[in-house]
Amino acid sequence: MSHSDPNCIFCKIVAGQIPAKKAYEDEQLLAFHDINPWAPVHVLIIPKQHIATLADVEPAHDAMLGAMLGLAPRLMKQLGVSNGFRTLINTGRDGMQEVYHLHMHVMGGPRPWARG
Ligand code: AMP
Ligand code: ZN
Repeated sequence: MSHSDPNCIFCKIVAGQIPAKKAYEDEQLLAFHDINPWAPVHVLIIPKQHIATLADVEPAHDAMLGAMLGLAPRLMKQLGVSNGFRTLINTGRDGMQEVYHLHMHVMGGPRPWARG
C-alpha cells in the first residue's frame, strides 16, 4: 500500500509542496481551509496517508476515521463556530468527489452560506 501519491494535490499539501492554510496537524491528520469555501468556516480534514476514497478504507483505518470525526467539533469550537456545522464526505464519481484523497468537509458559521 502506497502512503503517498506524487500526483495527488492533497499529498502535496501534506508534504509542504503546495501551500495551504492549516487549521490543525498531528501525526496522522491534517486540517486546512478549503480554497473555495461554501461557508464562513470551511475546513477539510484529511489523513496524511494517501487513501483515495472512503470506499477504500479497511478495518485498520477505523481508529483514524474516528479521529477525523472526533476532531471536527473541537476544530469548529477553536475556529469560533458555536451554532452548529455540517460534515460531508463525497465518495467516488456518483458521490461527486473531485479530489481523490479522502477528506471530510466541515462547514459552519453564520448563514447565509455560498452553498450547502
Ligand atoms: P470534493 O468534491 O469533496 O472532492 O471536494 C474537494 C474540495 O477540495 C473542494 O471543496 C475544493 O475547493 C477543495 N480544494 C481543491 N484544491 C484545494 C487546495 N489546493 N487547497 C484547499 N482546498 C482545495
Ligand atoms: Zn493523496
